[in-house]
Amino acid sequence: MKILFCSSEIVPFAKTGGLADVAGALPLALEDLGLEVAVVMPKYKSIDAQKFSIKEIGKDIYAAKIGKNICVYFIENNKYFERDGLYGEKTGDYLDNLERFSFFSLRALQLMRQIDFKADIIHCNDWQTALIPIYLKNFYKDKPFFKTMKTVLTVHNLAYQGLFDKKEYPKLDLDWKYFNIDGLEFYDKINILKGGLVFSDIVTTVSQTYAQEIQTKEFGCGLEGLLAKRSNSIFGVINGLDYNIWDPAKDKMIYKVYSEAHLEDKYLNKTGLQKECALNANLNTPLIGFVGRLSSQKGLDILAEAIEQIARLDLQMVFLGTGEIKYHLILENIAKKYPKNISLHIKFDDTLAHKIYAGCDMFLMPSGYEPCGLGQMISLKYATIPIVFKTGGLADTIVDFDPLTEEGNGFVFDYYHKDDLLKTLKCAIYFYKDKTVWHKLLKRAVKYDFSWKESAKKYLDIYKKCLSLE
Ligand code: ADP
Repeated sequence: MKILFCSSEIVPFAKTGGLADVAGALPLALEDLGLEVAVVMPKYKSIDAQKFSIKEIGKDIYAAKIGKNICVYFIENNKYFERDGLYGEKTGDYLDNLERFSFFSLRALQLMRQIDFKADIIHCNDWQTALIPIYLKNFYKDKPFFKTMKTVLTVHNLAYQGLFDKKEYPKLDLDWKYFNIDGLEFYDKINILKGGLVFSDIVTTVSQTYAQEIQTKEFGCGLEGLLAKRSNSIFGVINGLDYNIWDPAKDKMIYKVYSEAHLEDKYLNKTGLQKECALNANLNTPLIGFVGRLSSQKGLDILAEAIEQIARLDLQMVFLGTGEIKYHLILENIAKKYPKNISLHIKFDDTLAHKIYAGCDMFLMPSGYEPCGLGQMISLKYATIPIVFKTGGLADTIVDFDPLTEEGNGFVFDYYHKDDLLKTLKCAIYFYKDKTVWHKLLKRAVKYDFSWKESAKKYLDIYKKCLSLE
């Protein structure tokens, strides 16, 4: 079976979030199952062609190898992709994103003929490639080369839909007949993701709970009606983790590697991080990490409300992230006021992220909604105990610790409020102080296996189902 995997970001070439992690790892796991996979992404300015041995193979096409024999194709267009950001810069999203990603989507389809790769399934991801199913059905359905191709669209976060003013519609090169309630129209705007949800053969999302949630008003972002109508073709598959990248036993970015057999070496990472973050290098003080976008989705709304009370507890917190300016300001104020307790890093820094996962005792991820979430799974591997809100992928991966049965792998609150966040954090600190209980919890946490193998098998089943559709 041949799969063309289309994504706007892919690890290790370019990353702004979890989509890149998935796009860099799932193709490898599919290859291990015997599938023939090709991958395509834009050729951004930030991609280091030399480092990844990326070679020009055609007029605007470059290529590199990943996995055993997967070719990643990079589509060049200087006007669209030779910029500092992927989707935008500090001042906001690029104003021509519709043009940029409609170009990319169409070019990805044309690429297949050029490289003679006749995919059985085109696997699209998020709004940036959601036009592919529409273009396929509109422009190519009668062409023999494309006739039998099927499409799967994975939604990594329903909140990002690619919404544009309808006056941009002509740039899509699509007939106006698709601009209606059963197509790309959404309250008189263009909604690219909606188009993809209508026209793709199968829709997947990145956890089973989120697949259910998006069919409700609370999480459906206005698309719940459409999704509920398609509920028979919506599947939830939890993302895996690439343990070649996320493994404390071979992680070159952390202070000292460690494994389950030598968890005590984790504490060298703790003191290393404390020192680097100008915090007191005290092993007894609970050290809590946060890595992620500083946005309401990631729980910054309730966290901002609770942060002063948190900062007054006997703990240390390291924040790494960028996002909404209002949260930058709130955290900057708190970090200034409580420098002994809060260490703030407003930037994207892969190395520091690894050090935080390794060095902290707990990882705070109070997302209000979370399609899958990687931070909680990475933390478990690094024996760093997650504290999460019960939603989406967090609900599917983290089980609340039960002191009676000593079961569970984290601390979970199920009412989205700052008081519950605070209560759960205090509860985690209470158990942290009991070294015997805590050590058992760490031992259990590191045993969880979220590798891609099982999830890739589920995608294979979905592809097979897709091919059996009329
Ligand atoms: P998202 O909704 O942003 O995709 P995920 O939890 O699925 O959230 O994935 C986020 C990924 O990006 C994780 O690998 C996390 O470690 C990484 N990440 C997020 N923010 C930063 C940052 N500021 N610096 C380094 N890595 C980050």
